[in-house]
Amino acid sequence: MQTVIAPPEGEWLEKAAAYIRAGEAVAFHTETVYGLGANAFDDAAVRKIFSLKGRPADNPLIAHVHPGYDISRLIDADPPYARALREAFLPGPLTMVYPSSGKVSAYVSGGLLTLAVRVPSSPAAQAFLRAADLPVAAPSANLSKHVSPVTARHVYDDFAGKIPLILDGGACSGGIESTVLDCTGPVPQILRAGLVTREMIAEVAGACGVYRMREGEKPKSPGMAYKHYSPRCATQFFAACGEAKRAYDAEKARGGSPCILCEHAAAETLAGYDLLDLGGTPAEMAQRLYVLLREGEKRATLLIGIEPKERGGVMDGVLNRLHRAFGVET
Ligand code: AMP
Ligand code: MG
Repeated sequence: MQTVIAPPEGEWLEKAAAYIRAGEAVAFHTETVYGLGANAFDDAAVRKIFSLKGRPADNPLIAHVHPGYDISRLIDADPPYARALREAFLPGPLTMVYPSSGKVSAYVSGGLLTLAVRVPSSPAAQAFLRAADLPVAAPSANLSKHVSPVTARHVYDDFAGKIPLILDGGACSGGIESTVLDCTGPVPQILRAGLVTREMIAEVAGACGVYRMREGEKPKSPGMAYKHYSPRCATQFFAACGEAKRAYDAEKARGGSPCILCEHAAAETLAGYDLLDLGGTPAEMAQRLYVLLREGEKRATLLIGIEPKERGGVMDGVLNRLHRAFGVET
């Protein structure tokens, strides 16, 4: 199969919608990362997403809809705080988990009785979803466990020859996956941190919990139980620059090509080293993280990460992805 990278306009939107209605998978731009979408009502199409990615069947997908789509038929309960959160943050990088009405394919929810719904703000995503005019079930458009894609080229690198179409909306401005928020209880609870932060949610909803998986418990957000976002090269992670320099020098002495991924303040103290500079602000770090992880795996034999200093807000999401990419237990 030939994989075409095309702009999200005109005939390409019609083609994308036709592919979706025919049970094919289409990759599309969003403001967070690229998604790999299929008709959420179509069992076989949803299963195709899992097999294309090599994704475990119990890791659920997110139902993506355009802002005009009536989600009331997809969900079974809608607490008042959820309405307030939708008004404050949608369309945008917030995925909300509701009790499912069971209307979409059961494969979307990966065996759970809940459904995750997202309304992206990216004009490219909205144009695609309007053309399809049905819920599009999608995870990130990367092979399972690999780094999430934030350009059409990243998607192509993982799926060339396997999907017919990638709708290219440019680089993703957000850079990390959406915040996933459980809206099935009396108080909303963050299942996955992202650009809509705990602080922002608490301000609108009055309170916001953060889910932490307990030992031996079935995870509420199964994706969080899997190794994720991994670059395909050796990695090491350090709290401070001194240890990172020693690891770098040792790799050089072995004849390897090491590379250090760190925030801008650390990069300034590492002149002469091969660096991937994440930037200085949390938003910059989110935007660059996956770009630089993919860059690092191409050019380094050993990718060395250094812990950024800033905490709270968007850093919750950045640190979660960074730690998981480097296999750091938290
Ligand atoms: P991805 O964006 O590729 O990481 O895939 C979607 C993620 O959304 C999954 O890994 C889960 O963490 C989360 N998710 C999707 N549906 C649900 C759900 N019903 N309950 C909890 N989390 C969900
Ligand atoms: Mg993913």
